[in-house]
Amino acid sequence: MVAGRRISLAGREPASSSNTSKVSALLRRGKGIELKSRGEIEAMRAAGLVVARALAAVREKAVPGASTGELDAIAEQVIRDAGAVPSFKGYHGFPGSICASLNEKVVHGIPSVREVVSEGDLLSVDCGAILDGWHGDSAVTLAIGEISDADRALSAATEASMWAGIEKVRAGNRLTDISHAVETAALSAAATDGRDYGIIAEYGGHGIGTQMHMEPFLPNLGKPGRGPKLRVGMALAVEPMLTGGTAETEELDDAWTVVTADGSRAAHWEHTVAITEDGPWVLTAPEEA
Ligand code: MG
Ligand code: MG
Repeated sequence: MVAGRRISLAGREPASSSNTSKVSALLRRGKGIELKSRGEIEAMRAAGLVVARALAAVREKAVPGASTGELDAIAEQVIRDAGAVPSFKGYHGFPGSICASLNEKVVHGIPSVREVVSEGDLLSVDCGAILDGWHGDSAVTLAIGEISDADRALSAATEASMWAGIEKVRAGNRLTDISHAVETAALSAAATDGRDYGIIAEYGGHGIGTQMHMEPFLPNLGKPGRGPKLRVGMALAVEPMLTGGTAETEELDDAWTVVTADGSRAAHWEHTVAITEDGPWVLTAPEEA
């Protein structure tokens, strides 16, 4: 991470400097991106399943009257019961096992027993776990009770953008093929919904494996065909963030919480995805029944 800029729980766009351009040159050649063996990807799947279970438990309890602090405790319990460690807790001082980002909060909301969710709220929950040294990272946006059509459409557009990006997590593609697919799907959903969604550019996805945040940073928009060539054994977190208004964000005084500059609502979806010979493997997807 670049000195002077806050380390984040979503990947943050690196500022340019001579050092980062050297790194970029290496990355373009596919160097500096961790490659995993098949066995290591299977170990990451085990970590991803822990995250999936934690998010499923949170979803079940995310009803009007629940506090985000309670939801955090539920996620931590599921993670620890699995013999894993919540990767967010203590990450550069972050106090929670989840990020709970309510309504106009985009990412990095701090869970609290004083923050009680109500009917009609839109809650993004981001969660990470480490199992046997391997990381999983995933986020969902949850409807609290009945939500507005606009909020439901916003969340659906964000999730669809994530899946469009995941579809491009394939050997032979370039990194920004993913970015472009995310952006194209977001714009297409906006056109269908008759709305003008903001695509957050300052935060994005990232490489993941033996650490939560690794090279490369994965933008959620941009031209295709750029950046490192994707190879079997790489793993990426794909995590679009859309808003119902502006793409501009602000950070609150707690030095974590990112909110929309105009107070519009935001949604955030994320999966950890590995590149296999057979295409993308969504490591944080729930186990099939
Ligand atoms: Mg992430
Ligand atoms: Mg995350």
